[in-house]
Amino acid sequence: MACEISDEDLIERFPAYAIDHDTKARYRGWLDRVMLVDRCRNCGTWHEPPGPICPLCWSTDTVPTAVGGSGTIHMAIFLHQGPPAEGVDYTTPYPVVVVELDEQAGLRISSTVVGAGNADIVIGRRVRLDWIERGGAPMPVFRLDDADGVRS
Ligand SMILES: [Zn+2]
Repeated sequence: MACEISDEDLIERFPAYAIDHDTKARYRGWLDRVMLVDRCRNCGTWHEPPGPICPLCWSTDTVPTAVGGSGTIHMAIFLHQGPPAEGVDYTTPYPVVVVELDEQAGLRISSTVVGAGNADIVIGRRVRLDWIERGGAPMPVFRLDDADGVRS
């Protein structure tokens, strides 16, 4: 299990990310291809980004917890230029989406959509979590969930 690697090894696996005490569980989850979001054990609220205190009830009993990975595109932008990044070719504008996860209204994750043309990446489309390899480590992405189509 990747959750057992040292903090130093974790940082080496994700050189492009700011890994700290609050976010390290997330990236350990990525190595196991599990998306972890902090959830408060006192009031049940999910919160993102991860932090040591529940923003709703101020409990410190927050635990990185796996989410199902299904959700709805809340926002989509298309980058025509940007910093060089492995696997990113800006000649086709690169989609960046904010997905609202089904677990809770307002619980949103930023990523990209793969396997779809940009014209089909629209607000309201249902998506599901998938994983790609980038920089030698897993990275969460979304794919359009064709079975559900557009949620009105
Ligand atoms: Zn709470």
